[in-house]
Amino acid sequence: MLDRMSHQLNQVLQRKRDRERLAALLPGGSRERPIIVSSAAVIEPRAVRTPCLHCGGEYRIHEHERAASSVRRVDVGCRQCSAPRSIWFRLVPHELN
Ligand SMILES: [Zn+2]
Repeated sequence: MLDRMSHQLNQVLQRKRDRERLAALLPGGSRERPIIVSSAAVIEPRAVRTPCLHCGGEYRIHEHERAASSVRRVDVGCRQCSAPRSIWFRLVPHELN
């Protein structure tokens, strides 16, 4: 009985890890795969609109960090299940296109 429960728990944790690993491959999931934006003003609304990986809920901004001149990292947490996530952005102003 206990074995069965821990087996189920392991499966849940495994699925959670799989989703997190998958998220790292999505746009914004890592510094190497940032979401490209043309203005810093759209970064936070964009981060908030990204659905939570685990429950589809909305994110709340915890921190908005300037990792480099054009690279921003936004740390968010889900409003519903409080799962944390970091979303990476790269600023590419239109004038440079
Ligand atoms: Zn959530």
